[in-house]
Formats: sequence, structure tokens, C-alpha cells
Amino acid sequence: MILKKHHEMPERERERENGKGTVSEGVRVDYRIDRTDTVHLPRTDTLTPAARSERMSRIHGKDTRPEMTVRRLVHGLGYRYRLHRGDLPGKPDLVFFRRRKVIFVHGCFWHRHSDPNCKLARLPKSRLDFWRAKLERNRLRDIENHKKLTEDGWQVLILWECELRDVARLAEKIRSFLEDEQSQGH
Ligand SMILES: [Zn+2]
Repeated sequence: MILKKHHEMPERERERENGKGTVSEGVRVDYRIDRTDTVHLPRTDTLTPAARSERMSRIHGKDTRPEMTVRRLVHGLGYRYRLHRGDLPGKPDLVFFRRRKVIFVHGCFWHRHSDPNCKLARLPKSRLDFWRAKLERNRLRDIENHKKLTEDGWQVLILWECELRDVARLAEKIRSFLEDEQSQGH
């Protein structure tokens, strides 16, 4: 049973909690959703409305928060883009036609973020072989799409879900990608 009052948590811990914890009447309940959408709660707790809502949105595949965060940010920076162009390899999330650049917003788990510091990309403990094979296919498909796009003269930026927490840094990355004539987005 882990139950901490929000204001009692150290600053760093609070930040880390963002996006996975929830505040209920001033109390932060330390729950965690793993890669199989199982919600791990302190023993005696039931789901809070916020946790339930988050879980449901994941189940129904409507969880577009990472893309929405990037879209809002890009819009706020003054750039205009198109969404999900089905005729481009991999259907990039944002397409900048005039600049011939595209941005993908990748979920760290599904797209196998290779950064060893990325906690979101960790594999579940059960059915490891299944996940490895499944996710490896995603990774190879991403590489193939990336290759096709660059061969067609597109510049590609991949933003990872775990990068979205640092908005200032993210904004700078997007801005320099879109402004830089030579940017390769890596
Ligand atoms: Zn990541």
C-alpha cells in the first residue's frame, strides 16, 4: 500500500508521477498501468474516475495524448501541418509539405525506443517472446518507412513519447528540425 500526500512527495518524484499517477481530493494515489493494460493499485484501492477513464481510453485505442501534445505545441509555435497522410509511408503524424518534412510521434513501447534510459519501452515480464517478436516487426516496419521517406526526399523527425515531458526541449527540437535546411531529425 503506497499512499502519499502530493505535497509530501519530493519535487522530482512528483514530476515523475506526472501522467501516470492521479490526484484524488488532494491525495495522490500511486497506481501504475503496465504494458498489458493491467492497473496495479495499492491493495485496498479501487480505480479512481481518472484512472478508470485513462484505462478505458487505452483499451479503446483513443489515447492520442502524445500526438495531441505535439500538435498543440507545433501549432503554438506557429507552424501549419497536415495530419496522417495515408499516401506517405508509415502515415506520418504531422506533414509539412512545403518544407518536405514529416514528424512521427512514437509510443516508446510499441515502437521500441532504444534509449536505455527509457522506462516506457520496458517489456512486460510475461509472454516475453510474443512481445519481442511483435514489437520487432514494428521496429523493422518503422525503419523501412523511414528509408522510403528519405529516399523520396523527405526529412523525418521521430519524437518519442518519453521526450514529451520536457516541453521546452521538445519545442526547441521541433523548431530546429523545421527551420534547419539540412536537418535529418536524428
Ligand atoms: Zn522513450
